[in-house]
Amino acid sequence: MDMRKIAIYGKGGIGKSTTTQNTVAGLSEMGRKVMVVGCDPKADSTRLLLGGLAQRSVLDTLRIEGEDVELDDVRADGFAESKCVESGGPEPGVGCAGRGIITSINLLEQLGAYDDSEQLDYVFYDVLGDVVCGGFAMPIREGKAEEIYIVASGEMMAMYAANNICKGVQKFANTGKVRVGGIICNSRNVDNEYELIDHFARELGTQMIHFVPRDNDVQRAEINKKTVIEWNPACNQAEEYRRLAMAIEANESFVIPKPMETDRLEELLLEHGLLAA
Ligand code: ADP
Ligand code: MG
Repeated sequence: MDMRKIAIYGKGGIGKSTTTQNTVAGLSEMGRKVMVVGCDPKADSTRLLLGGLAQRSVLDTLRIEGEDVELDDVRADGFAESKCVESGGPEPGVGCAGRGIITSINLLEQLGAYDDSEQLDYVFYDVLGDVVCGGFAMPIREGKAEEIYIVASGEMMAMYAANNICKGVQKFANTGKVRVGGIICNSRNVDNEYELIDHFARELGTQMIHFVPRDNDVQRAEINKKTVIEWNPACNQAEEYRRLAMAIEANESFVIPKPMETDRLEELLLEHGLLAA
């Protein structure tokens, strides 16, 4: 089996890092070998798997150590043998975050992190926000990620961002291998949210791969610096993340998305009674 190269996109604050790490915990628990590469200058993509913020990002390590870097300097072991990397980024307002991502991936390649001997089943890229710039597109443009999941909720701005991300993916899909595997609905308890996102996903040509409920156990685990699966393996939310992990594992639907016009997006919200008084 080839390694699956997955990137998680979505509006800032929608739950990309939380959902990614909990999904990775689910896959790792199933015995899969997974590496997570955080591509957000916040460097918080691996905190729950590591039990705290990573010591050092790839970019910081390169700045401090120069070129003489080993894999163990930039990669740490997390929950259930998951491998964790934070690419880091420039200081706010200085330089492009996308460059950091590609520098990190290139370094990881050089250091053998993707070699067959590592026997990775998955690599997950947790990519920053809805910024439609070079940084946003870097992992898909360079063919580093081939399978995209978009985290969204029934809130209009989250759907707007998801639709924009589909526009970005569509551009590269026509010439490359990148495909959308599904929309992950991370619920915000919006009325009719399940039906709305299910419909939204199908109209984009893809599927709602899982509906993740909003649950305060996510916050309880987070304050303990753990994924829900590690913090309380028996709770309902842990089971939801396992279902998401299994749905991704079993997924065979990979499509070039069909983004919609803004008017149609607004109509869809109206159709599902969202804006009705
Ligand atoms: P992103 O990486 O997209 O910026 P985060 O993963 O950091 O977003 O999530 C933002 C906040 O939302 C987190 O602090 C987390 O506690 C909360 N959150 C995410 N998913 C859920 C959920 N399903 N239920 C409750 N809270 C959630
Ligand atoms: Mg994040």
